[in-house]
Amino acid sequence: APDPPPAQHLFSDPAEIEALRGSLLAWYDKCKRDLPWRTLAATEPDADRRAYAVWVSEIMLQQTQVATVIDYYNRWMQKWPTLQALAQASLEEVNELWAGLGYYSRGKRLQEAARKVVSELAGRMPRTAEDLQKLLPGVGRYTAGAIASISYGQATGVVDGNVIRVLCRLRCIGADSSSPAVIDRLWDMANALVDRSRPGDFNQALMELGATVCVPKAPLCGECPVKQHCRARRRKLFGKPAPVPDVEDCGVGGCALCPPATEPWDSSLGVTNFPRKAVKKQPRVARTATCVLERRGCHGAPEYLIVQRPSSGLLAGLWEFPSLPLAQGLQEEKQREALADHLRAWTGWPVVAGGLRLIGEVVHIFSHIHQTYVVYSLPLDGHVTLDPALSPSRWVTEEEFHASAVSTAMKKV
Ligand code: SF4
Repeated sequence: APDPPPAQHLFSDPAEIEALRGSLLAWYDKCKRDLPWRTLAATEPDADRRAYAVWVSEIMLQQTQVATVIDYYNRWMQKWPTLQALAQASLEEVNELWAGLGYYSRGKRLQEAARKVVSELAGRMPRTAEDLQKLLPGVGRYTAGAIASISYGQATGVVDGNVIRVLCRLRCIGADSSSPAVIDRLWDMANALVDRSRPGDFNQALMELGATVCVPKAPLCGECPVKQHCRARRRKLFGKPAPVPDVEDCGVGGCALCPPATEPWDSSLGVTNFPRKAVKKQPRVARTATCVLERRGCHGAPEYLIVQRPSSGLLAGLWEFPSLPLAQGLQEEKQREALADHLRAWTGWPVVAGGLRLIGEVVHIFSHIHQTYVVYSLPLDGHVTLDPALSPSRWVTEEEFHASAVSTAMKKV
């Protein structure tokens, strides 16, 4: 087992832990934001229904802001108010509702997991964090802890980005907060801190504090309910060494949780010295040629051709305008020819490169890809028969396009 961390990075005084829990919960009761999943979790008498609501909201909230999620969550719960209803939905319906929320595999896995609960677990949700994580696809340690504590009252902690920030500041943890060693310590800390009688509220309170007070750039330390327990704040106010009689400072070097010796405490940053993260890898640069094929529909309104992406990989199963990834550094003339070849092979229509009109470029940032779409258009005035052996495709009006399972990137296009 690794050595226990130095005292300045620990919560070891039971009286302090009790006081911190009390202050945080009192603040949460007074200041928490009203969010639809919180209202449901607080008023729904059936624990499995609570769990379903928390689960949907937590999956949507991964990588997405609360303000964006609210509308998606409300529409989702209206369409599929129970796990059983979701289990009967088609993946196409799920993708349509998810369109614009990003990270589409989240919706897909949520639905797969709902089917699993109905078909293999007799419709009953697993009730502990351990079982939730083990039995449900797409449910990781964080989501399992959130569902188990909020819906079933299990005294188990949670660690998400907000909690990482708050805990690193409370205990001056300046080592890379994405490293497994630090993450393990934070989980230990979250499990030790969680309030035994109100675990769900405590976890939500800690996350709420990170989202609204202990924010990344300009935390509102003066308004913080746990400021008297915050070692980063003490360090900012009093400098080094911290005037805390019962806490040893780590001294120079050697501590696995302190900032690295090469990047020591920077007094101009104050509490935002914490947390620290290893530098992110640069996103991969990619270019894709995409063509908006247009025809007059039977009622005279323009229609556009969309094609379905493969069922795995990026944007799995979503619909897009016919597209072709481009090699780096290809001249405009060459990319136009490559796209024309692709469309010719695919539609059987005598597409010539000169007939493609260059509309412009659209940039979309996926988490790990800096994607540029080079957009062309091509009006067609005849009937195109597409080979059904190729990817599924269909003609849609503009309105139908927006209601389809298409990504935000394609909406930009
Ligand atoms: Fe965060 Fe400041 Fe509160 Fe410390 S005192 S937990 S840094 S808001």
